[in-house]
Amino acid sequence: MRGPVVDISGLNELRGMTRDGSHFRIGALTTWTDVLHARLPSCFDALQSAAREVGSVQIQNRGTVAGNLCNASPAADGVPPLLVLDAEVELLSHTGRRQIPLREFLVGNRKTMRRPDELLTAVLIPNAPENARSAFLKLGARRYLVISISMVAAAVSFGKDDRVSSARIAVGACSEVARRLPGLEHDLVGASRFELGRRVMVGHLAELSPIDDVRATAAFRMDASRCLVQRVLEICGAEP
Ligand SMILES: Cc1cc2nc3c(=O)[nH]c(=O)nc-3n(C[C@H](O)[C@H](O)[C@H](O)COP(=O)(O)OP(=O)(O)OC[C@H]3O[C@@H](n4cnc5c(N)ncnc54)[C@H](O)[C@@H]3O)c2cc1C
Repeated sequence: MRGPVVDISGLNELRGMTRDGSHFRIGALTTWTDVLHARLPSCFDALQSAAREVGSVQIQNRGTVAGNLCNASPAADGVPPLLVLDAEVELLSHTGRRQIPLREFLVGNRKTMRRPDELLTAVLIPNAPENARSAFLKLGARRYLVISISMVAAAVSFGKDDRVSSARIAVGACSEVARRLPGLEHDLVGASRFELGRRVMVGHLAELSPIDDVRATAAFRMDASRCLVQRVLEICGAEP
């Protein structure tokens, strides 16, 4: 690497997860292991499952949530679980602080809205749907230390009648930036918890644009994604 390097690893103020009312803050130096061991409401289950799947224990001990987002890999495991939490990122520079939704921060393969002089200081979840059931599944060519072929996160809230009051679903590794599935989210509202998987149609995944590469063909990624979406929804719909 050429040019100056800023080492932020000693800024302990940026490490850890805090809560202020319904507002959660994940400091920039919070590692995946920190996320895994935090006591969090059920809507974070997908993020905690993703934490367990990032690389290996050694990577989870060093790798941060912020680094995963700034890296902006299409296969970043942290992105779908944070998209379903409607996460925002806090960016700080000598000229000020700004907060933007994660879905706007990530703009392409390895591309973000972060300006060169900005540090991502925190990931914020302003309105966590605390009681939502949430799940994450990742498919790779093997169990550990693997780049995703597809991964899916969901957060589903239920009314007193056990029917869906709101659903959020995101798929990663099947487009330059992980995508929510708004058509499916809309069609699931009012569905019984026991029929969520069966509601998924091929057309609901039309937002995705998977590529052929050494890990999988586009057709396989599409099929695998549909299967993962169904399974994740079945997990969310299972009796607590
Ligand atoms: C062997 C191996 C396996 C891996 N497996 C996975 C995997 O399964 N899933 C997965 O998603 N990722 C994986 N990764 C990628 C990576 O380890 C994770 O994405 C990790 O979360 C990145 O965090 P980091 O703190 O190491 O970021 P770094 O690698 O240190 O940083 C990534 C980029 O973001 C910038 N950056 C970091 N933090 C900030 C900040 N706060 N503000 C501004 N810019 C910042 C850095 O300058 C750099 O350009 C793997 C990596 C390795 C080496």
